[in-house]
Amino acid sequence: MEPSKICRLPLFAWTCAESEGQKEVVPMCPKHGGAKTRFGTFGTGMIVTCHEERNHLVKLCNRQEFEAERKEATARLYPSPQREEEQVP
Ligand SMILES: [Zn+2]
Repeated sequence: MEPSKICRLPLFAWTCAESEGQKEVVPMCPKHGGAKTRFGTFGTGMIVTCHEERNHLVKLCNRQEFEAERKEATARLYPSPQREEEQVP
């Protein structure tokens, strides 16, 4: 499956993924182009893993840098100002 749009930033190349009708901006695996990745918190940082190979670690990174890049990628991939950060209690 070819990703329609890619936004390359220093940490990751980002693309839009659609799951269950929800569009999401996700980092891409640099080794398996277009492979689906998962990300989550890991200690004080973020961990990004890839589904293509078992336990393929894409990158560990600083959480703030990850969020900042994701925000920038989102702004570039979706140039409308509709997205609002959800407040986390
Ligand atoms: Zn991979």
